[in-house]
Amino acid sequence: MKQRKRIAVLGATGSIGSQTLDIISAHSELYEATVLSAGQRVGDLIKLALRHRPRLAVIADNTLLPILRDALEPKGIECAAGAEALAECVEADYVDTVLTATVGYSGLEPTVHAIKAGKDIALANKETLVVAGDFVNHLLKGSISKIYPVDSEHSAVAQCLEGEDVSKVSRLLITASGGPFRTWPKERIDNASAVDALRHPNWNMGRKITIDSATMLNKAFEIIEAHHLFGIEGERIEAVVHPQSIVHSMVEYTDGAIKAQLGVPDMHIPIAYALGANSRLQGVSKHLRIEDFATLTFEKPDTDKFPCLTLAHYALKRGGNTACVVNAANEIAVEAFLNGRIRFSDIYKTIENTLIAASFVGNPQYEDYVSSNTEARCIAADFINKIS
Ligand code: MG
Repeated sequence: MKQRKRIAVLGATGSIGSQTLDIISAHSELYEATVLSAGQRVGDLIKLALRHRPRLAVIADNTLLPILRDALEPKGIECAAGAEALAECVEADYVDTVLTATVGYSGLEPTVHAIKAGKDIALANKETLVVAGDFVNHLLKGSISKIYPVDSEHSAVAQCLEGEDVSKVSRLLITASGGPFRTWPKERIDNASAVDALRHPNWNMGRKITIDSATMLNKAFEIIEAHHLFGIEGERIEAVVHPQSIVHSMVEYTDGAIKAQLGVPDMHIPIAYALGANSRLQGVSKHLRIEDFATLTFEKPDTDKFPCLTLAHYALKRGGNTACVVNAANEIAVEAFLNGRIRFSDIYKTIENTLIAASFVGNPQYEDYVSSNTEARCIAADFINKIS
């Protein structure tokens, strides 16, 4: 019997994590979850660990380790806690592929460790490439590890690029649903509540990414992510609003042909494609009945209403630590917005202000990303204290 692929699922209790575990248990002839991690949801992690029987369970919050141990050690499941344990667990010899579905900046360190240890990565944490894409690509050059995108748009691009020559690409068209505020007037968007922003029309996702979808910063991040994943310069990557979320992205070639990947908006498809190192599994998701869709529409995004979208090309042009600063300011701003401290339009203002005040580093090394992230968070928090 062929050995099963052993998966470390980082962020197991979140939306991508649980859908990954669905696939692993439905295909236990192919996959096995050997590490599960969570941030703070220790109860959920315990339940998952008892069901999926990993070798190791890791909780990011140190204070929760005793609870985890009491529940899992008697069952023979090893337990660990803290950021260091989270970064190191991916190096274990019982891990082949690391699925990173943690939220935000925290995804970077484990990914760096995984690349250094030569593990393959199914990347669901887009902030890793947004924050430190150049650095990660540099590491990949000296490693046997490969990154397989889990983000639906990048999975679509990877599928459209299959068998093609990247030098024949003229544009990547990253589709965007437009989020819950697509049809709202600007003044109403500026004052939208967290409840409004959390109501995504097509995708069921975690809170942070749902707010990023509402501001469309998520799409800006995906443009940056696509640049680093596929080596296509920023000017040739564009966002296209497609409210039905059926076309998951497109690649336009130099002869004028456009290839698109379509399907129901269900993350099981891109997760399974990434876990299989870009190969297909049967029965992963409901099939799309294209004949049920009378119209698929496409439009240009409105950057007056969604200024965050402009940050992609700005960050790629300016380079260095710019995207790292944008990400850090955004993480602080989204949290303040969810806590009712700032208005929706203040998310962009916080990022803009932080970009002006933060130090620019042209050719950042790992430590520069760490200090830049810390500095930008402080600047953003100060700005929010002033305006809230
Ligand atoms: Mg996406």
